[in-house]
Amino acid sequence: MRRTLCAWTGLVLCGLGLCNLGLCNLGLCSLGLCSLALAHSAPALPDSAIARPSQQFGLPFAGAPGVNTWLLGQGYGNTTGAYRQRRSTYGNLQGVHAGLDFSAACGTPVRAIGDGTVAEIDGPHGSLPHNLVIDHAGNLSSLYGHLLKRATLRIGQTVKRGEVVGLSGDSQLTCISAPHLHLELRDASHQRFFNPVPYIGADWSSLALVGSFGRGYEYDLSAPRRWQTPGSQPEVRRGGALLNEFRRPWPPAPGGSR
Ligand SMILES: [Zn+2]
Repeated sequence: MRRTLCAWTGLVLCGLGLCNLGLCNLGLCSLGLCSLALAHSAPALPDSAIARPSQQFGLPFAGAPGVNTWLLGQGYGNTTGAYRQRRSTYGNLQGVHAGLDFSAACGTPVRAIGDGTVAEIDGPHGSLPHNLVIDHAGNLSSLYGHLLKRATLRIGQTVKRGEVVGLSGDSQLTCISAPHLHLELRDASHQRFFNPVPYIGADWSSLALVGSFGRGYEYDLSAPRRWQTPGSQPEVRRGGALLNEFRRPWPPAPGGSR
């Protein structure tokens, strides 16, 4: 009930433009009542407010990758899977997979990628059945999606890099069909989505060699080298135009290219 009330309150205030005047910070939002609504309605932060990538974060799992631990399942960005669903699942994210998928058995401990503060538990960010948002320095927020259970943390709690913050789950709720963690890196306004790869210190070239449950990245044969590696993927803006309405897609789009 409180969540519904806050969402509507925030939407009304922001619809009136009051948030842009900073009034939300003086009123309900300072009480934390608007946070859920603002998460999707605050203006995107400018580049100058956001920390640049310098491998300042770590991986969300401990230990070495492997078939019995965890593997990189789907990259961020212009993946073939996102392309096929660019107008549906990913239509509000410019047709792009706006996070990294790590395959892992249900119940695998998920670690905070950096020091931060718990901002949202099961907030309005999808990635069901459970999600978690941690705010970090530099106006960056990490989202951990498809968690097995509601995180046993509290809003405002500080966490350290590497601390267990949840358990990985399955987007299809079976624990045998699609067990994975969906990890996103956003600006604190939740309007911009960044490629986590240059922010996370890891051997991405090796990680990309095994474990993928997709076919890599979608080609536009008009520009066949664009967006083809884990590190060279576009930023996403919530609600922006599709980035991948390719003229000459490969693999071909179901039902034709347009
Ligand atoms: Zn994902």
